[in-house]
Formats: sequence, structure tokens, C-alpha cells
Amino acid sequence: MTEGLHFREVFNFENMLDPEEIYEFCLKAQEKYRCFVTVVKPEERGIPFTAKDCICTKGVLTAAGSKILQNYVPPFDATCVKLLKEKGFVLIGKTTMDEFGFGSFNVNTEIIPKNPWDTSRVCGGSSGGAACFTALANFPHIALAESTGGSISCPASFCGVVGVTPTYGLVSRYGLIDYANSLDKIGIMSRRVEEAATVLSIIAKKDERDSTSVGSDKDYLEACKNYEKAIEFKIALPKEYFENVDKDVKNTVEDAIKKLENKGMEFTEVSLSMTEYALAAYYIIATAEASTNLAKFCGMRYGLELEIQGNFREYFSKVRTAGFGEEAKRRILLGTYARMSGYREHLYLKALKVRRKVIDEFKKVFENFDAIIAPVMPILPPKFEEVKDLSPLQHYMADVLTVPVNLAGLPHISIPAGFAKGLPVGMHIIVDHFCEEKAFMLAKLWEEIRGEIKYPSL
Ligand code: GLN
Repeated sequence: MTEGLHFREVFNFENMLDPEEIYEFCLKAQEKYRCFVTVVKPEERGIPFTAKDCICTKGVLTAAGSKILQNYVPPFDATCVKLLKEKGFVLIGKTTMDEFGFGSFNVNTEIIPKNPWDTSRVCGGSSGGAACFTALANFPHIALAESTGGSISCPASFCGVVGVTPTYGLVSRYGLIDYANSLDKIGIMSRRVEEAATVLSIIAKKDERDSTSVGSDKDYLEACKNYEKAIEFKIALPKEYFENVDKDVKNTVEDAIKKLENKGMEFTEVSLSMTEYALAAYYIIATAEASTNLAKFCGMRYGLELEIQGNFREYFSKVRTAGFGEEAKRRILLGTYARMSGYREHLYLKALKVRRKVIDEFKKVFENFDAIIAPVMPILPPKFEEVKDLSPLQHYMADVLTVPVNLAGLPHISIPAGFAKGLPVGMHIIVDHFCEEKAFMLAKLWEEIRGEIKYPSL
């Protein structure tokens, strides 16, 4: 195997630090930006990686950002973690996140990360810590993260890094603390496209422990090398994704599109009329699944335990009242309601029909186009004080552009398009199921045209 050489080609080993220096760096990052739940001291050399706190790591606390799992130390590694370790990657930390992935700004948890470009602003959620640290790490590093409805793209966009969400099922979910099983995907964040491509080739493996996993034999790094061919791609621009979007975001993404157009790329406006219904359908399906998944946290088997008093109902209720945060409780209520008899037909089953229509609409576009390009978030990263005053519904509305593609299980990459007011703006590259190589080609092409990003130093 030529892995070692292969990695040197992709990761900039000139900037590599010693394990001790990496540990010091992480502690400093933690002090200033609050991006970790746990900092892990690496015992050996290798390419450092971080894992979102909902991805199980042997012998290292895995709390999914929740108090109810405050002392859960898994006796095993998630498959993606195991595969990386086998290739010589070393775990350096568990990154903070919204509790169980419930959130778009990474404020629904105890440890709230600060945006590296402006510490008065949020990192985005739910994988905020992963994006934050990826922007800060000036040595080879990749982050394992997870998306249910946009949790990789949103923080990647807000923090100015690359966020790759593969097709649903491409990467095994074994060892992922689930949010909503029909939507959860493990993905990657990195500073550069080729780093994520290399890692996806490693972790996209069929796994008998996850019956939905498909895996792939593709070499995504090889795809990146063919990036010049992406100029021939036919690109769709969904008009709904450019409406009601902050003008700074819109202008930045449109500037990037113009630059690609100047190189000869062909763009055509299309309509994705289901966009406005996708958000409601997502929040019904996601909360319905989440509410059943969270039933297992009852203070008996994992995590928080309290003194046993009263009957089992009283005990479970006491543990869950103390262990779940406000947003988790809200989602349990919403999800339970949506699948209750009498409501199931009107809410849950209807949402599934909408989901089908969202998928069909995307599929139709991919009959004629190689990729869709759109803004990732409708806003620039907001300030903490702005987020504080938003209603839960306003929080959910931030996901309007990331949810449809996640509902459809389509692969997508969020890549920095440019900057507005000194803040990063992400651009979405969306492709058909299992066509990740096209997304990598196009992302790499854009990275070449855009040029290097100068990241904030710690
Ligand atoms: N913001 C979305 C939600 O709160 C997506 C979260 C995620 O992808 N984990 O459900």
C-alpha cells in the first residue's frame, strides 16, 4: 500500500505538529473558541482527526452534546472512526454540537462554540465545533461530522470550510448516536476539497453492522484530479433558492457563478417548487423519528442515573426532565404528537408524501443536469444576541435551503464561495445519488478558480 505517500500528496505535512503541540493547540482553541466537549491527547503520530460528539469513540466520552449522556464512554469505535484509525489517523478531540443534533446555530447545548471569523457570532449547527476547529487547525486535520437536515453544510458555510454530506447510506452509521435514522448521514469537514475526498474513499465502506450502508469502491481523490472536466457540466440554478436570501449571500454566490460562467460553464435556471413544503415535512419526519429514538434514554442503561425513587414512570420522568435540554423536550413533544393516532395521517404520513415529491423533483432535474448550485444558508452567520431573540420556528426556518437535499438523501458539498462583510459565504453543490465524484470535481474546480483562503490564526 502506498497510503503514506498518497497522504503526503493531499495533506500538507510541512505544517504538521508533534502530538504534544497538537494537544496544546487544541487546549488553546478550546479556551478561546469552545469547540470541544473533550480534548484527547494523541499518543502517537498520524493525521489528526476530530469526531463530532455523537460519533462513538472507544474509551472517550461520547455525549452527543447532552446531559443525559454525560458519562457515557463507549466500549467500541463507530465504523468510520475504526476505518480512519486503521489508516493511521489519530483522534484529537470530540467536537461540540447541538444536543443530539437539534439545532442550526449550535446554541442548544452547554458548550457553545464561537465563530473563528467573529467571536460575537455563531458557528452554525449542529456540527458547530467541527467547523470551528477545522477553520482554526493550521495543520493537517479532518473532522468527522453528521447531518440530518443540514448540520454539515450550515456550520461549514458559516465557518468557511468544506463540508461534504454523502448520499444517505454511503457511509456506515454504526456507532452514530442517532437523531432520525432515515435522514442521518456521516460526513466530513476539511479546509481543502482533496482532503475530504481522500477521507471519503476510506470511510465509504459497506458495513454488515448497518443494514442501510451501501459503500463504494470509487476513488474520490482521483475524481478531484479530473476537475478540469467539470467545466463541461450542465448546471441548474433553482430560482427558489435565490429568493428571500440575504443580499450579501446572494451576491457572493452569484459572483462565484459568474466566474464559472466566464470559464465557459453553462447555467440554466430551473424551478424546485417543492422547496417551500420541504421544511415542514422535514420537521415532522425528523421529530417523529427523534422522539422514538430518545425513548431509550431513561436512566437505566446509559448516561445519567438518579437515585431510584417512586415507580418506574416517576423515575424515568425525573431522569428525562433533568437530562434533556429544552429543545430536545420540544422535539419529543412535537414528534410524539405527529405520530399519535388521529394525527398520524394528517402529519406524519402526509410528510412522507411530500418527501417523495421532493425526491421526484430533484430526480427530474438530474435527468438533464450534472449538478445544482445554490446558496447554503439564507443569512450570514448571525450574532449570539440576534439568535437569542428568535422563536423556535425562526430557528427552524434557517434550514430552508439545506433541508430539501437532506430529505432527498442526495450528496452535497458546501464550499466557501467567498466573503461578505468579512464573513464566509457557502455555496452548495448538489448532485444525484451516488454521484459524489461529480460534486468533488466541481468543488475542486471552484477551489482552483477561487484561490486559497487565509484562515484566522489562533
Ligand atoms: N437544523 C436541523 C435540525 O435541527 C438539522 C440538524 C442536523 O442536521 N443534525 O433538525
